Amino acid sequence: MHKHHRALGLAKAPLSGSAGDIAQSRPVQPVTLLRPHAAARAARFFAEKFPGKSLYAVKANPSPELLQILWDEGITHYDVASLGEVRLVAQTLPQATLCFMHPVKAEEAIEEAYFTHGVKTFSLDTLEELDKIMRATRGATDLSLLVRIRVSSEHAKLSLAAKFGAEPGELTRLLFATRQAADAMGICFHVGSQAMSPAAYSDALSKVRDAIVDAAITVDIVDVGGGFPSWYPGMEPPALESYFDVISNAYEALPISYSAELWCEPGRALCAEYASVLVRVEKRRGAELYINDGAYGALFDAAHIGWRYPVRLIRDEDSDTRDMAFSFYGPTCDDLDHMAGPFELPADVQAGDYIEVGMLGAYGCAMRTGFNGFGVGDRVIVSDEPMASLYGAVEPARRSNVVKL
Ligand SMILES: *Cc1c(COP(=O)(O)O)cnc(C)c1O
Repeated sequence: MHKHHRALGLAKAPLSGSAGDIAQSRPVQPVTLLRPHAAARAARFFAEKFPGKSLYAVKANPSPELLQILWDEGITHYDVASLGEVRLVAQTLPQATLCFMHPVKAEEAIEEAYFTHGVKTFSLDTLEELDKIMRATRGATDLSLLVRIRVSSEHAKLSLAAKFGAEPGELTRLLFATRQAADAMGICFHVGSQAMSPAAYSDALSKVRDAIVDAAITVDIVDVGGGFPSWYPGMEPPALESYFDVISNAYEALPISYSAELWCEPGRALCAEYASVLVRVEKRRGAELYINDGAYGALFDAAHIGWRYPVRLIRDEDSDTRDMAFSFYGPTCDDLDHMAGPFELPADVQAGDYIEVGMLGAYGCAMRTGFNGFGVGDRVIVSDEPMASLYGAVEPARRSNVVKL
């Protein structure tokens, strides 16, 4: 069955091919499989179908190659949250428009962003932050300022409701003061990551309506944030078009001028399909597989918040065994390096087998550390399809968890 157990050396991975081709070279380290065509497809989808402007939330995956792909497909605005991200995007895409959308920034970061990198768009959720922005930019009169309001995360798999968002009692004053200071004034929110229902956005937009009516102000920008989902086992969302329709209808009903702009800030949805990781099983103990990537590598969310990713076994013969549920241990010496899953794989998976873990382009590759000497590995471009797609490429229900070499 396992004909490919040959002497192992560092893989000479080809520049393109499929996950199976890469597995055939029997890489010792985990290999990140990059699918530029999948990222390009996602970017085109948002650029063409979202009824407004799409800002890429850089934290989901800051790789310069990805930034370039998104730019080439029409994503011109980038949501950055730190000076590191400001510098990275400014250097990688000098023509891009940067929006500093972290509501709590260092004054020095605002100053460098504004004076060195030409950043004119900032978010805030307190009067103190508004003062800070005005001080750091020396009273600039060309700013777009967006007030972040607090909305429910009830439809999202990952809450973003606790940390940021103006206090309801202070909101009207804050909106009013921001209106005075801003050239363009906006309201933004984040419904939480992996929002499983479009209702998350209509609920949040009804809060935006209340805020506009209470403060009786003119709003130039409505920014619905990120939260657009991707596809994971047990988290199959409705079509993205249904999110866009709900947002479009709720936005059209807001008391705003015809010249107002609608923005969104997708992170996950633009890059989840961009990368997967090919791992090797080093040991099997019952239903536990010891693999060569984990909590300190691309599987941070799998370990720390129990996120499930699609997996498939790559080997050279069909297996007639049924699937069973596995959990994973990562390569470090730490008990925390454990991914509960469950990950469904053929029951006869064993040491030496290769598994592709899919949908790691967002918040997977970006979290990798070098802890314990792991975290190195090749990155190769492949041309096969991602394991699932919200962009019509793969019918998730029809995917198989075995790839024949
Ligand atoms: C993380 C983040 C995003 C992206 O969220 P996704 O759920 O990945 O789409 C967008 N905007 C802000 C302000 C964020 O913090």
